[in-house]
Amino acid sequence: MTEYKDKYEMVIGLEVHAQLKTKTKIFAREGCEFGKDPNTETSTVTLGMPGVLPVLNKECVNMAILTGLALNSTIPNRCKFDRKQYFYPDLPKGYQISQYDEPICQGGWVQISNKKIGITRAHLEEDAGKLVHAGAAGLYGSSYSLVDLNRAGTPLLEIVSEPDMRSSSEAREYVENLRNILKYIGVCDGNLEEGSMRADVNISIRPIGQKEFGTRAEIKNVNSFRSLVRAIEYEFIRQAELLEEGKEVIQETRLWDDNSGMTSSMRGKEDAHDYRYFPEPDLMPLEISREWIEKIRSEMPELPLQKLERYQKAGLSEYDANVIVNQIDLALYYDKLLEKSVDPKVASNFLTGEVAAFLKEEKISIDESKLSVDNFAKLLELLKKGTISNNIAKGLIIDILKTGEDVEKLVEKKGLSVISDESSILPVVQKVIEANPEQVAAYKGGKDKLFGFFVGQIMKETKGRANPQLLNKLLKQELDK
Ligand code: ADP
Ligand code: MG
Repeated sequence: MTEYKDKYEMVIGLEVHAQLKTKTKIFAREGCEFGKDPNTETSTVTLGMPGVLPVLNKECVNMAILTGLALNSTIPNRCKFDRKQYFYPDLPKGYQISQYDEPICQGGWVQISNKKIGITRAHLEEDAGKLVHAGAAGLYGSSYSLVDLNRAGTPLLEIVSEPDMRSSSEAREYVENLRNILKYIGVCDGNLEEGSMRADVNISIRPIGQKEFGTRAEIKNVNSFRSLVRAIEYEFIRQAELLEEGKEVIQETRLWDDNSGMTSSMRGKEDAHDYRYFPEPDLMPLEISREWIEKIRSEMPELPLQKLERYQKAGLSEYDANVIVNQIDLALYYDKLLEKSVDPKVASNFLTGEVAAFLKEEKISIDESKLSVDNFAKLLELLKKGTISNNIAKGLIIDILKTGEDVEKLVEKKGLSVISDESSILPVVQKVIEANPEQVAAYKGGKDKLFGFFVGQIMKETKGRANPQLLNKLLKQELDK
């Protein structure tokens, strides 16, 4: 495999379908919520009854424009809809309304760590329904298929990338960053497993140094980041082996199977002319004014890349900033914490450390936990003022995550504040020294490292509450006597 990578380079372009988070469908007024009873979210338009007319949902256009702006695309003054004809039982009309030669977004790019990945275009289209295959298989047996048209007419934005990626990790990073952008601007929930974001992977290989692209295969059914990477790596080897054997890669659509870890041929690749695209006669071309675009631009929320930079400027490492930005709920929470003027670095340490570990363990989001922003900020304030120690704070955050109890009351109730008066610490220091004569002798004989041993004993006695500076001072003073 590594020898193939010395000889061939992969070229990857992705077509990502993002389901837009609208209340209603793209050309009909019923809802498009996931998980409803079969065929309850349908209408004459969705069922493709004769004589009905599609009406474009303006919210879809707003979301497409917002996405285009976030992806650095050009939004032309005019775009139009086209019919893409094909027969499939989950497509009652016999065609899908899509956009062919005049898409709503043209060009653009998504930044990944080492380069920009070009965006060719993004266009609006309607989703098809879903076939549910049931019963035992067999030519004349009891197998049958049912059609559920709830998903038909759900708005999709298909985002097509340039063939700019050269490895599975670049493809992964592209999808991750694109997904983050879509989530931050609120147009798609980006759930690969549930299919609200789907990626078709186009991959070809070429001998290293060759300019022309090789013949590509398109892989469908990739529904997690893990399968994206596995499918690409599998396909690279499959294509390399074909070329090594003197055979050719054929242009086709292949299906990824997560269980076998292989792709298999699904159908030959259709060309555009197979679909007999023509302008949708039931919809007017869409004129988009500059004012409309500027209004949407003015409502653009902060994008992930900007957040990342802001966090790093505030003192976070690139790693920590990424951990927060990659989970939108954590990032929005963290922003609210920052509004309370907490120390960004300390807050981030708790958030990406103890808090994130707890949430992962409990399988809940930060919004589902009992940790309010106020309480968290108070805890950080107590720590900053030196009322509680770092170790105590680490334990307390778990307590308040679980119970939601007010942190100040908890500190008082449990007596957790730092002991900073000499009269309380000195007796403990003396007691520990008296109890360990051998260690004292060894320390005085030059074993400096034992200092830490005494500190540990004293902290144990005070349940971690002794003020560290004061403890150090008193311990030194007593040992040097
Ligand atoms: P179609 O509409 O037939 O799917 P497109 O020209 O729109 O074809 O390309 C679809 C995707 O395939 C794009 O993301 C593009 O970047 C990618 N692509 C095109 N040619 C290649 C190639 N030789 N190798 C890898 N990806 C490619
Ligand atoms: Mg395609």
